[in-house]
Amino acid sequence: MTAKKITHAAPTKTATKKSIPPKASVKKVINKKEDIGLPLSVVIRRRIEAQKARFHANDNIAAFINPGELDALVDEVSEKMQAVLESLVIDTRNDHNTRSTSRRVAKMFVQEVFNGRYVDQPTLTKFPNVSRLNELMIIGPITVRSACSHHLCPIMGRIWIGVLPSKESALIGLSKYCRLTEWVMCRPQIQEEAVVELADMLEKKIKPIGVAVVMEADHFCMQWRGVKDRDSKMINSVMRGSFLKDSNLRREFLALIDRK
Ligand SMILES: [Zn+2]
Repeated sequence: MTAKKITHAAPTKTATKKSIPPKASVKKVINKKEDIGLPLSVVIRRRIEAQKARFHANDNIAAFINPGELDALVDEVSEKMQAVLESLVIDTRNDHNTRSTSRRVAKMFVQEVFNGRYVDQPTLTKFPNVSRLNELMIIGPITVRSACSHHLCPIMGRIWIGVLPSKESALIGLSKYCRLTEWVMCRPQIQEEAVVELADMLEKKIKPIGVAVVMEADHFCMQWRGVKDRDSKMINSVMRGSFLKDSNLRREFLALIDRK
């Protein structure tokens, strides 16, 4: 069975998302006396709450983390992961396979698969559109590795990005589309929200006439657990600006991306 869910997300303003204030103003509020002795996660959480910012699974909280603190966060997650293994009644002391599992998993979460929550957005060099390009550009397929917020199961897929630059657009290097995608996807995500987040970011950075994002992915929470349907995929698309208004442009984009 191939369950394909096609969603055309209308342009949405992420108004519910409180914007995170500039780093400088936040990173000054560090090491307060009353924070001494508290777990680092609690201290970070207090900084976020003081700024009334959001810290959902797919939010980036780098502005609230000081240099060097990620290592301490790995230590804390590792300790709690060890408690999970103990609650699962696994003999981590005598089982050589699981002896260092808690630390491996903590490092994998903080430094790899959820790292997009904890590090700043990759710096993007912008080039002025000197040749005044205003033709459709397609980037992809970009490999997507993420995890679902519901089960923390892997999401593996591909993304295609379509950009119709304006003569005034700032263009970014091709590899930067991959780095931005990775930064958004290396967080516990919900596919529908991930594509919208990526489209928002591209609109803000490039200021194009139109932007389109199509994502197709396997959700391991459907394959490894639950309905155990190996072939089901989820497909989402977000169309903005000219891709929304101009059906010919949309058709051209969708015909040019090769999803086979
Ligand atoms: Zn799931």
